[in-house]
Amino acid sequence: MVATRHDARAGRVWLVGAGPGDPELMTLKAVRVLAEADVVLVDDLVDRRVLAHVRAGARVIQVGKRGGCRSTPQAFIELLLVREANRGHRVVRLKGGDPSVFGRAAEELHACRRAGIVCDVVPGVTSASAAAAAIGAPLTDRAYGHGVALVTGHTRDASERHDWGALVASGLTLVIYMGLGNAASIVDALMRAGRPASFPVAVVERASLAEQQVHHTSLAGLVDLLGARSVRSPALLVVGEVAAVDLTAVAPAFDAASRIPA
Ligand code: SAH
Repeated sequence: MVATRHDARAGRVWLVGAGPGDPELMTLKAVRVLAEADVVLVDDLVDRRVLAHVRAGARVIQVGKRGGCRSTPQAFIELLLVREANRGHRVVRLKGGDPSVFGRAAEELHACRRAGIVCDVVPGVTSASAAAAAIGAPLTDRAYGHGVALVTGHTRDASERHDWGALVASGLTLVIYMGLGNAASIVDALMRAGRPASFPVAVVERASLAEQQVHHTSLAGLVDLLGARSVRSPALLVVGEVAAVDLTAVAPAFDAASRIPA
């Protein structure tokens, strides 16, 4: 095992969640760590306004990773993290949402640990939470969903594909990240696993940003919706009864539960 250095001159790495887009959804800790950084490596999902917290004189390096676009290879990003920290710099790797949710956090943590560099994670608000706020419904609910599964719609090969049958059987709300490209095969898999064509789906585009769009549909309607409207990445698919919860209909129950005794 490699010894980890703790002396004050040694560089360090922070994997920082920038939140889903709205700059106000960044944590106070993320803002502080960003303001203290010497070098900032930024994902292309991160809203540029967040960079207002970077101090003058710090280096900002864009390392786009969005699927389908030209992006910086993961190995090179890891090399940069290690190299800059070894030069004694405070290095922030700024990622959209939460670094631990489809954020390649494991690879970057390992790369730092292998090199003996201290690496901490500053959690962020993941886009699923912003999508729930956009829909105006919870991801879990005592009546409609006892839990939530965050899954990717984009898998490298068949060995990584989900057991959609097990996911359906679990009854959990599914929040599908990176799902637009494979929407047709995801719908097919969910329906073969027993979900009815009418099962509710919400598509949330650019959650928490001014351009946010919410589309309510069903499994059967999803592919047509994606074809008919130009739904653009980043977007999430929320598959579950919570996607159709009409909060106005359940409001009286909430009122009764929250009534404060006189
Ligand atoms: N770490 C990020 C997820 C990175 S994977 C997080 O915690 O949110 C990239 C995928 O996240 C996108 O393809 C999209 O599915 C989703 N995503 C990220 N930001 C989003 C946003 N503002 N609105 C909707 N989906 C978003």
